[in-house]
Amino acid sequence: MNTLNQVNKAINASDLLLLQRKAFLQTEPPSLKQRKANLAKLRAAVIEYREELQVATSEDFGHRSYQETDVMELVGIVQSIDYLSRNLRRFMKPERRHVSLFYRSATARVEYQPKGIIGVMAPWNYPISLTLIPLATALAAGNRAMLKPSELTPRTSDVIHRMLAEIFPLDEVAVILGGAEVGAEFSALPFDHLLFTGSTPVGRKVMKAASDNLVPLTLELGGKSPVIVGRGHVNARTMTSIAYGKLSNGGQTCVAPDYALVHEDDLETFIEEYNATVARFYPNGPDCDDYTSIVNERHYTRLQGLIDDARKNGARVIELGVKPETAKNRARTLVPTLIVGAKDSDAIMREEIFGPILPIRTYRTIDEVIDYINERDRPLALYYFGEKDEDCKKLLRRTTSGNVGINNTIIHVAQDDLPFGGVGPSGMGAYHGIEGFRSMSHAKGVFDQGRWNFPSLLHAPFGKVMGLALTITLGKKKSKV
Ligand code: NAD
Repeated sequence: MNTLNQVNKAINASDLLLLQRKAFLQTEPPSLKQRKANLAKLRAAVIEYREELQVATSEDFGHRSYQETDVMELVGIVQSIDYLSRNLRRFMKPERRHVSLFYRSATARVEYQPKGIIGVMAPWNYPISLTLIPLATALAAGNRAMLKPSELTPRTSDVIHRMLAEIFPLDEVAVILGGAEVGAEFSALPFDHLLFTGSTPVGRKVMKAASDNLVPLTLELGGKSPVIVGRGHVNARTMTSIAYGKLSNGGQTCVAPDYALVHEDDLETFIEEYNATVARFYPNGPDCDDYTSIVNERHYTRLQGLIDDARKNGARVIELGVKPETAKNRARTLVPTLIVGAKDSDAIMREEIFGPILPIRTYRTIDEVIDYINERDRPLALYYFGEKDEDCKKLLRRTTSGNVGINNTIIHVAQDDLPFGGVGPSGMGAYHGIEGFRSMSHAKGVFDQGRWNFPSLLHAPFGKVMGLALTITLGKKKSKV
């Protein structure tokens, strides 16, 4: 389309940033109409490329059903774009702010101005939506963007690259392909804002690199998100939701419940019900079309290692789902696994799992649950199943997590009007909703002085007017000397 796109490969990332910055500074910020047109273009491209994206992600993962890609990625992108489009006028509107009596008659307002060039770094687990929802947010806020998708899903990254090159000129949206080394260079560029989605260890490196240029950051990181099941609340509805959150995308979801805290009286029922739910989800066994493979050999071996380590240390390992004759024998199918009695020192209880393994820890009281959670890093998400009773309220009051799901898992992320982000080691800042728009906008305070105003009378030489103003504001002076 644009000639610039054809030379993409010849331009390095830092020159691309200069190119985008020059274009940004030489033009007016995009109007509401232009921003909506950009979002519409992106939406249409996603629909047009739907099949290519489905095929590419399935090949990248080894296997992922097209429906899973639709539900877990494309629906979310389209909904986010529609939400941004519908609400953009309101988001962009300057906000009138309060002016105190002392400074009347003036007006104060906040104008949301595009920051400029937004860098977006994405992981492999939802390679389409975690690249394109940040992009849609950046465009809605009137910015230009440079994207660095993951090298672990190369086919998907390639489709995204081609798709965006077809609809946007390089000085508006550019894609940089490459691995960790390219990521390190990318994160050191002087963007006007950088949104990084990925692991906590790499997030630390990215923050260090960005600090050299004082680039503001949104860090969407990982960690261990607990699911707490209230006493007596192991039932089909609870288990459907937990298994859905844990097993979608083969467990490779940042907000998946990482481990379960279950009342000690409910442990055996939990195991039985989880097993029954897995059988209901995958009647032909997990090695079937609806179950996503582990993305690569390294992660498969890592997950197997977590299971072996827990087993070696005395935990009970329960592998679910039989392998029937119709099994596809796909590489890297890791069956849903429960682990009971793992020690807190075991790797599975210390590291983010990011796979279809659910360790269960039992508790007796909600205070014990709260202490356990608070002794660890603040999680990205926390889930509670049960009545909205005092236990639930106490848990919400006394713990801090990115988001909370009550009687559901993971779908808080799909709520366009809720901010999404972690706290501390699980992240910094948020996007989605108005928070996303604002994180990629500069909130510029404008103080507009009226022609007749009080402060203009308050300069030296200080006299009666000043005295009167101070008496009105501070009251009559009480002399102690
Ligand atoms: P990752 O941190 O390994 O990679 C993320 C991105 O950083 C990739 O584009 C990669 O190329 C780049 N990168 C790798 N090494 C780098 C380095 N040294 N310097 C700069 N960039 C580098 O993460 P991943 O394995 O792709 O994704 C899984 C992690 O992401 C999990 O921890 C998961 O919880 C987290 N995650 C978080 C969210 C969220 O929204 N909070 C969403 C999805 C995944």
